[in-house]
Amino acid sequence: MDGDKIILRKYEPACVFCGSAQNVQVFRNKNICQDCIDQLARSAHLSSAV
Ligand SMILES: [Zn+2]
Repeated sequence: MDGDKIILRKYEPACVFCGSAQNVQVFRNKNICQDCIDQLARSAHLSSAV
């Protein structure tokens, strides 16, 4: 029927932290954008450095 019109994007991935839909990746079943991944990585480094 709608073979070439399948819409699988009812659910648009958005970053759970900032709500951005750009460069969103799934990390531990959460949608996280690249920016927040970078920030998480940095804060992880910072906290481990304390
Ligand atoms: Zn984000």
